[in-house]
Amino acid sequence: MTEKVALIGSGNWGSAVAKIVGGNVHNFEHFDKEVKMWVYEEQIDGKNLTEIINTKHENVKYLPGIKLPENVVACPDLIKTCEDATMLVFVVPHQFVSGICKQLKGKIPSNCKAISLIKGIDVQDNAEGFRLITDMIQESLGIQACMLSGANIADEVAEGRFCETTIGYRNKKDGELFRDIFHTPFFRVSIIEDVVGVELCGALKNIIAIGGGLVDGLKMGANTKAAIIRIGLYEMRKFAKMFYKDIKDETFFESCGVADLVTTCAGGRNRKVAEAHVTTGKSFDQLEQEMLNGQKLQGTSTAKDMYGILSKKGLCEEFPLMTTIYRICYEDVPPKRIVEDI
Ligand code: NAD
Ligand code: 13P
Repeated sequence: MTEKVALIGSGNWGSAVAKIVGGNVHNFEHFDKEVKMWVYEEQIDGKNLTEIINTKHENVKYLPGIKLPENVVACPDLIKTCEDATMLVFVVPHQFVSGICKQLKGKIPSNCKAISLIKGIDVQDNAEGFRLITDMIQESLGIQACMLSGANIADEVAEGRFCETTIGYRNKKDGELFRDIFHTPFFRVSIIEDVVGVELCGALKNIIAIGGGLVDGLKMGANTKAAIIRIGLYEMRKFAKMFYKDIKDETFFESCGVADLVTTCAGGRNRKVAEAHVTTGKSFDQLEQEMLNGQKLQGTSTAKDMYGILSKKGLCEEFPLMTTIYRICYEDVPPKRIVEDI
């Protein structure tokens, strides 16, 4: 059977993976060679971004300087992008997934499978708990979803610098199929049977990366950064296992676990903006606008989502680092409390 891949999202990471997937479909007979990519349309110097991508083969706004394969076709219509796909790759900031799923409901082939590359969780106002993005995709569209996450700063991946990543699967055949469209000699994919573990590592590390940036801004040095990473990993694992006891310990040693935590605390957007929050005193929202050119910060909103869960369940004292990071982001608590309150 021929498989047809559609990419839902075309930001910094979406465009980097478009380069990989567009190349990899040529390596296997069973993949359709056209890869449609849904673009949230916007104007750049009076032109549609989709038109620019389809003529210059470059996402000039979100991944400038990197050529995309010509078989990657930008499309502003979500339904048209996905209606004939058998493999959906979700790669948008997490706050947009629910709206996207609502639009896609009933509009995709029943034999579709999905993979999420999204680092975040879904928390509805007033809800007691939270929902995984893969669960949201599965429940709203009635299809199985794998999860890909790893130490993967998009610009470095797009430049072809070696790194690893992890795919979590429930159904091994799906895990292998998605590995085929992502794996390259410089983007090494491991597959493991732990969707939830892979997903929670990716979501929670974004909160800790804010902590990494705060201590950088405070110029506290390498030992303090290492302490934030260690305590962060401990809280990530404790939270994940508290809610999902089947999560595997080994998952935290994969690229999606400790490696992603290290890379994001060293070179990610969450780190960069948190450092600037300390050095400039500006709010995270203002800095996101000023520094990221339309890219989205995921760590602050995930810290807020987490705090909502922890406070409702009376767990704040058990997760002092995540709680303090939330308070620094949203309650005007001074950044130096990152080391005083943990
Ligand atoms: P990004 O931060 O570049 O986000 C901007 C994207 O959101 C753009 O494509 C923009 O058009 C789109 N957008 C803006 N408003 C929208 C709306 N109302 N509806 C739908 N889309 C809208 O995106 P990204 O870097 O591709 O991140 C996507 C996911 O991948 C995130 O969960 C992120 O954590 C994860 N991720 C990112 C990286 C990275 O290095 N950038 C690496 C690994 C994983
Ligand atoms: P940032 O969103 O902090 O840039 O992290 C990117 C990432 O997830 C790298 O693996």
